[in-house]
Amino acid sequence: MSNYIEEVMTKVVERNPGEAEFHQAVKEVLESLEPVFEKHPEYREAGILERIVEPERQIIFRVPWVDDEGNVKVNRGFRIEFNSAIGPYKGGLRFHPSVYTGIIKFLGFEQIFKNALTGRPIGGGKGGSDFDPKGKSDGEVMRFCQSFMTELYRHIGPNTDVPAGDIGVGGREIGYMFGQYKRIKNSFDAGVLTGKGLNWGGSLARTEATGYGLVYIVDEMLKDNSQSFEGKTVVVSGSGNVAIYATQKVQELGGKVVAVSDSGGYVYDPEGIKLDTVRRIKEVERGRIKEYLESHPEAEYVADSTAIWNVKCDVALPCATQNELDEDAAKTLVENGVIAVGEGANMPCTPEAVEVIQDNSILYVPGKAANAGGVATSALEMTQNAMWDAWTFEEVDVKLKDIMVNIYKTASKTAKEYGMEGDLVAGANIAGFLKVADTMIDQGVI
Ligand code: NDP
Repeated sequence: MSNYIEEVMTKVVERNPGEAEFHQAVKEVLESLEPVFEKHPEYREAGILERIVEPERQIIFRVPWVDDEGNVKVNRGFRIEFNSAIGPYKGGLRFHPSVYTGIIKFLGFEQIFKNALTGRPIGGGKGGSDFDPKGKSDGEVMRFCQSFMTELYRHIGPNTDVPAGDIGVGGREIGYMFGQYKRIKNSFDAGVLTGKGLNWGGSLARTEATGYGLVYIVDEMLKDNSQSFEGKTVVVSGSGNVAIYATQKVQELGGKVVAVSDSGGYVYDPEGIKLDTVRRIKEVERGRIKEYLESHPEAEYVADSTAIWNVKCDVALPCATQNELDEDAAKTLVENGVIAVGEGANMPCTPEAVEVIQDNSILYVPGKAANAGGVATSALEMTQNAMWDAWTFEEVDVKLKDIMVNIYKTASKTAKEYGMEGDLVAGANIAGFLKVADTMIDQGVI
């Protein structure tokens, strides 16, 4: 790292103590920006780096609610409005016990560049709570969501900040939050949240978008290297929104997904995962992935989610959570002959794992580019809301595919321009950064 970039990084660590995930995300971006700063001294003069690593606004609030037994509970709510240079803050809400400032800041920071890559006018933000929806009744989840929105509503709006789902926040939670927002505001502002139900302003294909988008971009990368999903063995970690629709699209393209997981462990089905069973367990019954064996006793269950990377595959798609694939897992994948890794989750590979993957010339598309289909389709949902219109599934899907192919082309072209051909990490980081940095210069020091 150059002295200047190192100074900025040191300050980030000093000013944000104890936020390891945020440090990791900033370091990854800053490292790849070195050639940009050599070529463009104007970014340093305008203090772009110092400004871009500091959120525009950070909101932390109390979320009190009452459980089914009448006990008062208190969680912590977050919304980090990171950067609004190119559009309203946009990014999901995560409900998971591991949530704290460092997680939300890492996700919000990544979101700035990801959103810029989509080509849509959306800034970067993220939010959530340390509330755990797992094991809670619908009534408890509703009361929590209503309390969460009772504070959040004053900070968001269709032209200000537009949250969506993420881990632990799906259609049910978005529904409860939208209902409460509408009630407080006495206004049907459809564009205030995305991931809505289809009867009330949601977009067709939004549910599928992140998983589909991941597979579209990996497919484009494979094609660019004279390969395809046809006949490939694929491992997908997680069994949530992203994992389910990534699996569906891989199967459509002729690949065979042999393993999926949740935080308890993974199932291995050498004949190919039966997606209907996974969807019933996860989307309808909200159960555990090990229940897959009740319908398919020939499959195996291993009670260690990280061991999923021991399963031999051609393509690995980590779609669960951050830092789920470490250096040893990456080495195992390489030894087993993996040819491509595509990140459905945000930052699922540790920096050491990425190094192993890149050193072995494995095709690799980072989360910032690979999972951008979700937020891109959220932006399409906002467009439909602004037009009071609704497009068909095919219309949205065609646009999504187009966006993913464009992201691939932009990242690979930018990498080449900066002398790092094939390095999609550098290409995605630089392309996203340039768009936001140029806009920040246009808009002055704010
Ligand atoms: P879901 O809540 O629908 O699913 C998450 C899945 O990951 C579950 O199977 C969950 O298992 C598993 N998981 C969560 N934490 C861990 C852990 N610590 N170890 C192992 N497995 C874990 O979330 P999504 O599918 O929406 O999100 C998955 C990833 O994709 C996240 O990184 C998210 O930020 C990213 N993403 C999501 C987008 C979207 O549109 N939904 C858009 C872009 C990125 P369990 O049920 O046991 O917790």
